[in-house]
Amino acid sequence: MIVIIGLGTAGVYATRWITQLNREEEITIIEKHAYESYSPCGIPLIFEESGDFNVLKHPFPRTKRINVLLNHEAIKVDPENKIVRVRDIEKNTEKEIGYDKLLFAAGADPLVPPIKNAREYLGNGVFVVKTLEDADLIKKFIGEKNVKSVAVIGAGAIGLEMAHSMLVNGIKVHVFEMFPQVFPRALDPDMADIVAKFIMGLGIELHLSSRVDEIVVENGKIKGIVSSGKTYECESVILATGVVPNTKILDGIVKMERNFILVNERMETSRKDIFAAGDCVLVKSFINGDPVAIQLATTAAKQGIVAGINMAGKDATYSGALGAFVSTIGSLEVAAVGFTETYLKDKVEVVSARARALDKPDYAGGEEIILKVVAEKSTGKILGAQALGKKASSKIDIISMAMKKGSTAMDLSSVEISYCPAVSELYDVVNMAGDLLLRKLNPENYRF
Ligand SMILES: Cc1cc2nc3c(=O)[nH]c(=O)nc-3n(C[C@H](O)[C@H](O)[C@H](O)COP(=O)(O)OP(=O)(O)OC[C@H]3O[C@@H](n4cnc5c(N)ncnc54)[C@H](O)[C@@H]3O)c2cc1C
Repeated sequence: MIVIIGLGTAGVYATRWITQLNREEEITIIEKHAYESYSPCGIPLIFEESGDFNVLKHPFPRTKRINVLLNHEAIKVDPENKIVRVRDIEKNTEKEIGYDKLLFAAGADPLVPPIKNAREYLGNGVFVVKTLEDADLIKKFIGEKNVKSVAVIGAGAIGLEMAHSMLVNGIKVHVFEMFPQVFPRALDPDMADIVAKFIMGLGIELHLSSRVDEIVVENGKIKGIVSSGKTYECESVILATGVVPNTKILDGIVKMERNFILVNERMETSRKDIFAAGDCVLVKSFINGDPVAIQLATTAAKQGIVAGINMAGKDATYSGALGAFVSTIGSLEVAAVGFTETYLKDKVEVVSARARALDKPDYAGGEEIILKVVAEKSTGKILGAQALGKKASSKIDIISMAMKKGSTAMDLSSVEISYCPAVSELYDVVNMAGDLLLRKLNPENYRF
């Protein structure tokens, strides 16, 4: 018997591969939601379009071998006897389920920072964005209370996507970020500045280097927030300040670091027959082996697949994460892969280059794209890239593949990229960035 805790991205992909590769094993999936898997990634988009969040639900195929227990929460794991204790949330009853192999794929929950009144008013004016219930709550609150101003705390992808979706719904938005830039983990300051200017140009009030200390409440209603001693009016607050891994029930059972589960390249934990994947694990960076916690659906899916293949009795390894990601704030695509120059400072000597180009010729309606690439000085090896503008993600995807193959600046300069004026430029921004890097690296031989 295989037991999977969590029918999120990692759980779904693991199940798909287990059922493909092993036709005998029975699978029990324990999921605390009342609904099957869903796409959290679509929540900001559905907000923006004032749509129905139910479109984000995905029915999960049932077979004789797959038993899905919805509305059930795993509350205890007994690794000695290989048993998971499960609570039926609706009936408030408990039962035990035995396993031969267990996949822990319980994801991560939004972090509620220690801001005065944040926890007290959670769900009642103060919101996190993770589940469909969260999304419904925000929509209901904003609609019923006719909210006209919102403070978003955190200027990462979720915070900025939510900020934009509020803005287009006619709501005044303030964004507060304690770091001096937006996308603090994914972008270097020079690229983040361009995004910040774009956001402010839309009419979002952006407050950088601004830690929020208090949510002001009067007569049970949110009235504002206090940051750096100043009060800003708002009627609702959205917290987008990161996540905490959902790993409490494995405390003392498997090795962890900063509450993230440590796994090897087969996605095995330190405890025999317990695998883990997704937002709850710490994996290795594909680039240099540094431990990285990457909260992306794409990496969760791949880790789930690796765990699934191994649980099905075959052999698979996860080579590490590059963290390729994309986010859109209105018409601006923000994409990145690998490490930033800021992260690499003091670790390795790097050179970087920033190319600006059009995605296609001016006469074909070309729009600007900016690509920054960071390479190791001694070898020219690509260590990271950031792109802003039209088709940013497609450039990052090329570089992600290049990085997977250990490519260098020379490869970016020489790679052939297809061209036709209706869709692309003759000389692509990826080639341009490669050329600029080569000039800084000044190699003896050029091999195109
Ligand atoms: C608003 C938002 C936007 C996002 N946008 C993007 C994006 O554009 N691109 C991208 O790559 N990523 C995005 N992400 C991140 C992505 O959704 C996650 O990285 C991914 O879902 C992680 O997959 P997972 O399987 O580890 O966890 P999850 O998908 O969170 O699944 C974990 C599941 O475990 C269940 N669970 C937890 N504890 C228990 C328990 N004790 N018993 C039973 N069940 C339990 C949970 O209910 C949940 O269904 C976004 C996330 C959010 C919230």
